[in-house]
Amino acid sequence: MAAINGVRGPIDSGTLGFTLMHEHVLVANWAMRQAFPDWIDRAAVIARAVEEARAAKARGIRTLVDLTPINLGRDIRVIHEVAEQADIQIIAATGFYWTEEPWLQGWEPAALADLLIRDVTEGIQGTTIKAGIIKAATDHLGVTELNRKLLQIAARVHRATGVPISTHTAVQERTGLAQQDIFAEAGVDLSRVVIGHCGDTEDIALLEEILRRGSFIGMDRFGLDLILPMEKRVSVIAELCRRGWVDRLVLSHDACCHIDWFPAAEIRRLAPRWSFRHIPDDVLPALRRDGVTEAQIVTMTVENPRRVFERQGAY
Ligand SMILES: [Zn+2]
Repeated sequence: MAAINGVRGPIDSGTLGFTLMHEHVLVANWAMRQAFPDWIDRAAVIARAVEEARAAKARGIRTLVDLTPINLGRDIRVIHEVAEQADIQIIAATGFYWTEEPWLQGWEPAALADLLIRDVTEGIQGTTIKAGIIKAATDHLGVTELNRKLLQIAARVHRATGVPISTHTAVQERTGLAQQDIFAEAGVDLSRVVIGHCGDTEDIALLEEILRRGSFIGMDRFGLDLILPMEKRVSVIAELCRRGWVDRLVLSHDACCHIDWFPAAEIRRLAPRWSFRHIPDDVLPALRRDGVTEAQIVTMTVENPRRVFERQGAY
């Protein structure tokens, strides 16, 4: 048992239960919110997220991991409000997205890492709500000079606090392996890292290359059928289970109750099943049809999340 930083206070790792490891309550640009106060309707965003979180809870989900990084508009007060109203456990993240932003350029890694460490040890945005996980991201640009620095910062925060790292990758660019290289160089135990968005590919050889290095992998974009349809995502998981990797897989949707990247109607049209309900409603039955056992489902949804968060050694 270990105490995890949840947005409503410490969570005993033994009570995480069915956990969705990569979701988002709200993704909305802070600069646009400030420049145009009606960029989002805060009350409507909260109401919709509460409805989604309650739907998840009604389907047996006990914990949501919100992996929104600082520069995608992480709003800890909104996340906290949703957790309270829906009466569900949410774990929030600290860390930066991969985008090459000018205000990230001129700072030494230690200075930025110190800010993120404060998120974990003191609280986020002037609250006492602490981050329970570190988000890191590498996209199609690969490991640029800035990205290397951001990954090193994530490693530094991990080593200082012991909280796990969970990543965004562009799986077709094999950026998960590059992330593992940098984390390993920086002294991170790769078994405390979730390499994310691995569910976007059918390249099992690549996934096994990542898995052999000891990390968990996120099969975490269920509902984004445009990238890879559910049936193919399910087949990859079933095959990895047959090959003995069940204890390294975690499931999620990367769903956003609100995201400002596209008009909401467009998202509903393009990804109609992209919500916290899709895994319990559609994915788990499909996994069972593909031969995944009930015990394996519990391993992926309950036991693996617990193992990601439980501190394995001293830092
Ligand atoms: Zn995400």
